[in-house]
This record gives sequence, structure tokens and C-alpha cells, in this order.
Amino acid sequence: MDTVSHAGWGATVIRAKSMVGWAAIAGALPDMIPVLYGIVRYGLRFFSEMTSQRFVKSPTSGYMRIYYFTHSLVPASITTIILFIFTKSAWLLSIPYFFHILLDIPTHRGMWATRIVYPFSDFHVNGWSWWRHSWISMVNWTVLIAINFILWNVS
Ligand SMILES: [Zn+2]
Repeated sequence: MDTVSHAGWGATVIRAKSMVGWAAIAGALPDMIPVLYGIVRYGLRFFSEMTSQRFVKSPTSGYMRIYYFTHSLVPASITTIILFIFTKSAWLLSIPYFFHILLDIPTHRGMWATRIVYPFSDFHVNGWSWWRHSWISMVNWTVLIAINFILWNVS
């Protein structure tokens, strides 16, 4: 799904006021890390390649390794265990991070499909590409807004 709605879902699943900003960042992090890599690695060229869709159609293998890594349950689980051992509550931020991965599994396809147990396997589910099927974004945003509307009016 789009990075903005991932941030929205992060803030929705972790509603504690003290953590909501971090939860939004954690929800968007699997997409933000590869983008930060792209900016550092390719500089301003990265933005022009992204906006022209050239990079989306034929990304570099280095970028894809980072993308697969940040969308894999393996490093996410290891990070969660480390956070659980060494922090009091920061491990809770793993929930929006995992939610991002789970949302991306059915909404990505082909080269951009979520490699669930990367780097151990290339296994992936060929879902529907959310950027090619506008109904996916409509359903996603409708459910996200509806849940927040209900939660705001209940609490
Ligand atoms: Zn993603």
C-alpha cells in the first residue's frame, strides 16, 4: 500500500498518545528505509527516476535487496526480539511494522511482491498491485478512515 496510509495504519494500531508519532514512522519504515537508501546512493537522480517511473520499472538490484530485506518477516522478527529484551515498550513499534508487511503481501505483485522470508527464500505471493487497481486504495482508505472515525467517537 502507499506509504502515507501505512503511516496512518501505524498510528491507528498504536493509539497511545506517547507513541503515536513513532507508530506512524514505524508503519512507514519498510518503505522509508529503501527510499533513504536510494537518496543516499543515487542522490537527486533518484527523485527524477522515481517520478518518471523509470526506477519503478527497472530498479537496481542493490535497491531491491534493501526493499526485500525491510519487507521480510526475518529481520523484523529479529529486531522485535532485540527490542523486547532491551527496551520497556519500544518493541510495541514492531506491531505497525509487521502490519505494513502483512498489508503489502496481498497488494504487491511480481518484482515488487513481498519476499516474506528474505534472504532465506524468494517465496512470495503474487497479489494485486495496489497502484494498478484503484479499488484497493479506495477500500484501504475507506476502512482506515472509518475505523478512526469510530474509534474517535467511541473513546
Ligand atoms: Zn511497503
